[in-house]
Amino acid sequence: MNKTFSIIKPDATKRNLTGAINNIIEENNLRIIAQKRIKLTKSQAKGFYVIHKEKPFFGDLIDYMTSEPVVVQVLEGDNAVKNYREVMGATNPENADDGTIRKKFALNIQENSVHGSDSDENAKIEIKYFFRDEEIVG
Ligand code: ATP
Ligand code: MG
Repeated sequence: MNKTFSIIKPDATKRNLTGAINNIIEENNLRIIAQKRIKLTKSQAKGFYVIHKEKPFFGDLIDYMTSEPVVVQVLEGDNAVKNYREVMGATNPENADDGTIRKKFALNIQENSVHGSDSDENAKIEIKYFFRDEEIVG
């Protein structure tokens, strides 16, 4: 699969970093083929991060993800999932490599500016969670 799913998270939209992050995405051979700015409901956020529901940070994560608008995106490019995970950098910005989005913009392990799918299987599920087929026009 040559697609992945991305979220520009509340800490980034709040600081007016949507364009700066999109620039980095586009400089790294990824094409933004669908995009919308939305405010997640609690139930949308809980469903999206259901895999983390037993984690101690789950409640805080849901509050954070619903605190400000987010920008949900479909990205296309060769090895999109792996490429975007590299462009994002490590979950904790202290461990993120130079040149990554999280190194540049993330505030801490929670407010880490972007989400990216971690497998082709999850990319498919996550794209479907936010976009209808007709909204992905290439
Ligand atoms: P994402 O799934 O958002 O792309 P990730 O795959 O790098 O991030 P996950 O382990 O899936 O990291 O965690 C999901 C999100 O939960 C993180 O991006 C971060 O916002 C938050 N999170 C993860 N670990 C912690 C933690 N220890 N404390 C607080 N928040 C955390
Ligand atoms: Mg993850």
